[in-house]
Amino acid sequence: MASLLRKLGNAVGYTVEEQEPPVDIDQIPPSDCIVNGDCASCPAPCDDHKQFPSYLQFDTETPLLGSMKPYGRQVMISTGQVDWAEKIENDEGTLAANLSSIIKKQYDEKQGRIFITNTSRLTQQSTLNGAQDVIILPDNILVTNVTPDRAKAFFDKFLNVPIPSFSAPDEQQQQQTNNGYTNGYSTNGGVISSPTTTNGYTNGHVNGHRHHRHSNGHAKGQSNGHTNEYASTPDDMQIIKNTHKAMILICSHKKRDKRCGITAPILGAEFDNVLREKDMTEDEVAIYMVSHVGGHKFAGNVICYIHEGQTGIWYGRVNTCHCRAIIEETIMEGKVIKDLYRGAMSHSFGEIKSDRLRW
Ligand SMILES: [Zn+2]
Repeated sequence: MASLLRKLGNAVGYTVEEQEPPVDIDQIPPSDCIVNGDCASCPAPCDDHKQFPSYLQFDTETPLLGSMKPYGRQVMISTGQVDWAEKIENDEGTLAANLSSIIKKQYDEKQGRIFITNTSRLTQQSTLNGAQDVIILPDNILVTNVTPDRAKAFFDKFLNVPIPSFSAPDEQQQQQTNNGYTNGYSTNGGVISSPTTTNGYTNGHVNGHRHHRHSNGHAKGQSNGHTNEYASTPDDMQIIKNTHKAMILICSHKKRDKRCGITAPILGAEFDNVLREKDMTEDEVAIYMVSHVGGHKFAGNVICYIHEGQTGIWYGRVNTCHCRAIIEETIMEGKVIKDLYRGAMSHSFGEIKSDRLRW
């Protein structure tokens, strides 16, 4: 037992005796949220799950905890692609490049770093020619009709505003009133609560039409049942609540590094298998490919957004044998798998930081 504990301690970069995590306390999940031990209960070698090509080399030594750059907000641009220019911030004329340039010049990162990503999601809600849908987290909104030319207006209205704060997920169980989205989206850091998803995923089932899972796991263009949540904004940009209760984002950015490019579709297929088996719809859990998240040597790189986008959990060294545990523990139960954990979006675990040190 002692040697196992030591091994776990070493795996996250410090000894059990020290009990001092190498990251800000904000990154440390409450201890009752942590799943210890090997979550892949497969024999080695495993014949049940498709393995990554043996020629790929991964970093198996560097501690994962603290290996991601903290951020306060993620921007997901719907591009319908799974690979992008090597550096999306330099891909001239695109929304990603324009936003990156504005952020560099005009944004104070002390408010919380803004993390811009392209995604495989298809633009479905925008009506304007050449415009894209953009999802923002933890705000958990989808903004329509965003064009590269509107990057500044988009930045001013949605990004250069305080990041919403939330109560810890378990506190939300106490909340009864549904003042979540429409009242919560404000420019003064108003609280967005999500009373319908109180404890991880378990209460988050949708009642309406169940979409069939698309073969590649991407959402189909059918989810238009949220018209009542449109809010009028200048420039035709409209706000819709993000329809996905949870999202699994996999770095597939091959032009940055082939490891993520090759492993991402293999992981995506396995995540999709598990979700199909559990009859989970795309409204419940969406799988998207995303551009560079940092740390290709830790591929597969997976970000799980749960609690309606308020909690963003980063995993590295994910292989197909982990997909089931990630869905069952993290997506469905809101738990963090310690062995794979790289860090989290800021404030993912609420403001209460007691009982965080027994990592
Ligand atoms: Zn396996």
